[in-house]
Amino acid sequence: MSLRDVLRIDPGTRADLSSIDPGGTPGLPRHKSVDKRWGRAQLDALGLELASLQERLFATAKITGSRRRVLLVLQAMDCGGKDGTVRKVAGTMNPQGMTVVGFGKPTEEELAHDFLWRITRALPVAGQVGVFNRSHYEDVLVARVHKLVPVRTWRARYRKINDFEAAQAADGMTILKVMLHISLDEQHKRLAERLADPTRHWKYNPHDIDERALWGDYQAAYGDALSACSTAAAPWFVVPADRKWYRDWAVATLLRDTMADLDLHYPPADFDVATERARLG
Ligand code: AMP
Ligand code: MG
Repeated sequence: MSLRDVLRIDPGTRADLSSIDPGGTPGLPRHKSVDKRWGRAQLDALGLELASLQERLFATAKITGSRRRVLLVLQAMDCGGKDGTVRKVAGTMNPQGMTVVGFGKPTEEELAHDFLWRITRALPVAGQVGVFNRSHYEDVLVARVHKLVPVRTWRARYRKINDFEAAQAADGMTILKVMLHISLDEQHKRLAERLADPTRHWKYNPHDIDERALWGDYQAAYGDALSACSTAAAPWFVVPADRKWYRDWAVATLLRDTMADLDLHYPPADFDVATERARLG
């Protein structure tokens, strides 16, 4: 069984987050020495694989005009580890072949458009790996919990999101959606660490405590969004994220397996190599 089979929310099934232990480490190989040190060493090896896959994606688009591209969507509660995952997993790849976009509170201009407008503009172009740190899913999460729009509006968005993602997938975008699943206790620990460390105060937002009080509402909103929007074209995966080493290993493995499926190769020379060697002298 691949890690994707272990962590996927199977399309058409209900995502029950309360049954997934945020402190768990599902899908690890079964041998004794699997621990944090093992995870970090594996991540180094996975990083090299990701860099090579990304280079092949980039080169193929450049030489053949292929439209293939990859999008990794990261969602999580505050302190869930989105930033750390970007640094540790996306950080293994060449910045020239990727775009990382974070989505915050929509601007006036963004609010004047449909919720998918700013998303569409930020999608990776051919040959690129894109990473979304938060995404259009905020429009069925925070928008629902804070009643920013009427119920019928966010409900209708599930279908719009599925149609949007299916259209992108049909046009050559491979979509990997990952929810980093932390516990309420782990969030407390991480918020306390931020408060205790002046070099992390910039990451702290007093508003996070207000959001924390709405934990149950957010878990329900996540459960519904993952259930409604895990599709064959763009499935959702839930990664237990209380242990950072497991989280990084799992996201890197999901991305590696997803990109390996694309069967990416270095494009062959479209010139005669012997002739060019001779010309070079
Ligand atoms: P951070 O990720 O810490 O920079 O925080 C970004 C904030 O923007 C979070 O509180 C998100 O809930 C909020 N946000 C992101 N997208 C939306 C959206 N579509 N509507 C409302 N708030 C959003
Ligand atoms: Mg924050």
